[in-house]
Parts: sequence; C-alpha cells; structure tokens
Amino acid sequence: MADSSRTSDVGRRDRLLASATVALRDHADVLGPLGARFAEKGFELYLVGGSVRDALLGRLADDLDFTTDARPADVQKLLSGWVDHQWDTGIDFGTISAVWRGKQIEITTFRADQYDRVSRNPLVTFGSTLEDDLVRRDFTVNAMAVRLGADGSQEFVDPLGGLDALLDGVLDTPGAPETSFGDDPLRMLRAARFAAQLGFTLLPRVFSAITEMADQIDRITVERVAVELDKLILGEFAVDGIEVMCETGLASRILPEIPAMKLEIDEHHQHKDVYWHSLTVLQQAIDLEDGDPDLVLRWAALLHDIGKPDTKRNEPGGGVSFHHHEVVGAKMVRKRLRALKFPKKLTDDIAQLVFLHLRFHGYGKGQWTDSAVRRYATDAGDLLPRLHKLVRADCTTRNKRRAAALQATYDDLEQRIARIEEQEDLARVRPDLDGNAIMELLGIPAGPEVGQAWKFLKELRLDRGPMDRDDAERELLAWWASRRSQ
Ligand code: ATP
Ligand code: MG
Repeated sequence: MADSSRTSDVGRRDRLLASATVALRDHADVLGPLGARFAEKGFELYLVGGSVRDALLGRLADDLDFTTDARPADVQKLLSGWVDHQWDTGIDFGTISAVWRGKQIEITTFRADQYDRVSRNPLVTFGSTLEDDLVRRDFTVNAMAVRLGADGSQEFVDPLGGLDALLDGVLDTPGAPETSFGDDPLRMLRAARFAAQLGFTLLPRVFSAITEMADQIDRITVERVAVELDKLILGEFAVDGIEVMCETGLASRILPEIPAMKLEIDEHHQHKDVYWHSLTVLQQAIDLEDGDPDLVLRWAALLHDIGKPDTKRNEPGGGVSFHHHEVVGAKMVRKRLRALKFPKKLTDDIAQLVFLHLRFHGYGKGQWTDSAVRRYATDAGDLLPRLHKLVRADCTTRNKRRAAALQATYDDLEQRIARIEEQEDLARVRPDLDGNAIMELLGIPAGPEVGQAWKFLKELRLDRGPMDRDDAERELLAWWASRRSQ
C-alpha cells in the first residue's frame, strides 16, 4: 500500500517536472541566451519563485523572475545591449527590471536581509548563496529554482521541499512561521492570497501562527495590503481566500465588515447568516462571469450586504428587517475602500452596485412603470451588465421554485430594458435641449439655474421617454413660470 502510493507520488512528480520542462521550452528563446550571458562572466543565474511554481502548475505567463549572485550594477551591464529596455526602480531591493521581446524580466541579486521588526522594509543586504536566498522567501512552493547553465542546460533546485508541498497543495514557510511572519507580516496575507489563487491549504502551523499574529498586519502599508486583496479576490478560489482571512483574524484587521456579517442567528432562526450568504453570492457571481475575472463584480458581490448588521431590527411581531441596508452598505463600502486607497472609479462603481442591488426586489411581478425601468437602467449606466449578474447571484434560496420564479422575473426585467432601450436608445438619456438653448429660451445667463433647468428636463425625459422639441420647450417654460411665481 505504502509502496504503491509512493510510486504514484513519484509518477506525479515526474509528470509535473516533465510539464515544467515543456513550459520552460516555450521560453527557451530568453532563458538560453540569458543564462549563457551570465555564465560567460562567471555568474550564476536561476529562474526562481513564482515563475518556477507556475511552470510546474502549467500556468507560466510572460513575466519571469530570476535570482543571481551578480550585483545590480553587473546585472545592468549584462543586460545592456541585449534587452529592449531596462530600468532600475527596484535597485534599492537589488532588482533590475527589463523587457525582452514582450517578456518582463526581473533579476534580483541573492538577498540575505535582516529585519528590525519595526520598520516596514527590510535592511537589504546581499547574500552569496542561492540557499540563503530561498530560505528567506515566503512559502516553500515559492522557493524553488531552476539553474540556467552556459550550454542552455536547466537544473531543478529544491532544497526546501517545495515540489512536495506543491503536490500536496499546501502552503508552508521555509523556516518557523512565527519568525517569517514577524520578519514580514504581509506574508500572512499572501498566504490567504495564494489559497485563493492556487486552491492550496495552509499547513496547521502556518494557520495557527497567523491566528496568533494577525494584528501585526497593521505594520504593513495599506497600498501593499490592497495589492494582495485584489489578487485574492481575483483568484479562482476567492471564497477560500476570504475564509482564510476571516478564520485567522486577518479580516478583522483589514476588512472588519466581512466577519461582522457573522450575525447571531436569533431564537426564531428567522434569517440566514449574512456571512455565508455573501460568500455564496460571491461564488455565484464568479460562476456568472463570461470572461476574465471581474474585480468590480466580485467586490460588489462580497460587500453587497455589509450594511445588514448595522440596520438589523427585531420586529415586534417576530422577524427581522434590514431597512435601507443598501444605502448604509454603499456608504460603508466607500469608507472602507477609501481607507484601503482603492482607485476612486473602482470605489464608486462598487458602491453604486451595492446601492442598486436591492431595487429589483421592488419589481414584484413586473409592475414597474416604464419610467421606473428607465431609471433602473440609467442609474446603473455602464454597470448594468454587472448589476444583472449581481442581482441574479444574490438569489441563494434553497427553494427551487422560488429561485426559478425570481430568475424568471429578472428575465422579464432584462427583456423590458432591452425593449425600451431599442425604442429609445437609453444610453443617450439627456435633455432634448442643451445649455445654450435653455439660456436662450429662458433669457438667463450661465449659472446654477441652467443646471437646475437641465436636471428638470432630464427627470422629465426619464419619466416620459423621448420628447419632441416643442414639448420640451413648453414644459420648460411652464416649469420656469411656476418657479417664478413661488
Ligand atoms: P504573482 O506574480 O502571481 O503575484 P509571485 O509568487 O510571483 O506571484 P511576487 O509578489 O511576484 O509573487 O514575488 C515573486 C517571488 O518573490 C515570490 O514567489 C516569492 O518567492 C518572493 N516574495 C515575494 N514577496 C515576498 C515576501 N513578502 N516575503 C518573502 N518572499 C517574497
Ligand atoms: Mg511574480
């Protein structure tokens, strides 16, 4: 039994190594000449870290990470005249970056950093051996290397058992996890991120170290946290990554609104746990994506109900309500994402989707007026396709008939939007008179009143659909006269 499982492990190892060899052959155009250039001058060069991991997983892209015993100034000399372009923004950390025929190359000198455990950045020092460099990396699956020889040869170097960890699908630190996370607390969040990207699990010792040390994530700048959070939520297994953050306590430090959704179930069991509902909605939204992972949709799905804990009321006759949780939720989204320094447009879009996610539930059996349908589509604007997905994903009832009825009602709404759009070209909802025409008609100079008149016309347009110019002028004059007489 033991023997056969070992044999099959050997088989899996060999298969993985063979597939990595194939993946690296695709990059032989860059790996061969680059390895030869370094070897000629007596330096070692290794493909390393995420690049080796991804080659083994058959997902190596066009950005390649290398490590070397050459110092940055030597690396610059070795690259110049060969790469298309190189830059040194990472030189303080020993990194020279370059582009060669569309491939991104990063070459970092062996590191042997010290950490003072207070400041955010390590005291960068260079090392002299590959092993010293590898042992300072975050996880063993990220601490494998491939030596690139003078003759184009490739030698797999794995002193820390990275391949075994990869085969087992586990994240472990090269040394004691407490030391590693004390050196750089961001690694704790990277563990959740790799769980989300790779579907790997944390080794128990890693999990408990993070649980012990989660509050140290506060030492990391929000910019670095935000980069990892985006990678996490874009991962194929995003839900697992969120769970790791919540179970270890990392989420309580950086996204406290998520674990706060674990509401106590009241004695009547009247409402489902908002936390589990949100994770299900995130997964369902992911399943509805039609192409690349959608950052805006995923964040909106995860956060759509974060207003619920604060708006929860126990109603007199039993039952629970969450009035205006979409309004409160949208505000909370803005506050949190601003604190995380998310780009403004991304924040606005996510908050707007959260704000709109509930409106469909007033649609009932389709009693909305055309005006209400128009407003739904215009308020969503460019976000409409995502809003459709979010609302559909937000249905997590186990009652199959109820679920089917909700989806059918949403089909009906989508069809009505399409019909109205076709008739009226909703994308161009705007007043039929522009600012100049308004000023001329009302005999007023540019100023706030022009804006108010424009807004009046837009509302009218939404209520009624397209108007001809005579009607628009008549309505505007009547509005102006009634304002004057007030
Ligand atoms: P991806 O490029 O998909 O984000 P990656 O594993 O390549 O994933 P990078 O952030 O590009 O991650 O880092 C490249 C390599 O550098 C990692 O694989 C790891 O070996 C090492 N590394 C990166 N950040 C850290 C860190 N905070 N602590 C220790 N090692 C790190
Ligand atoms: Mg990388």
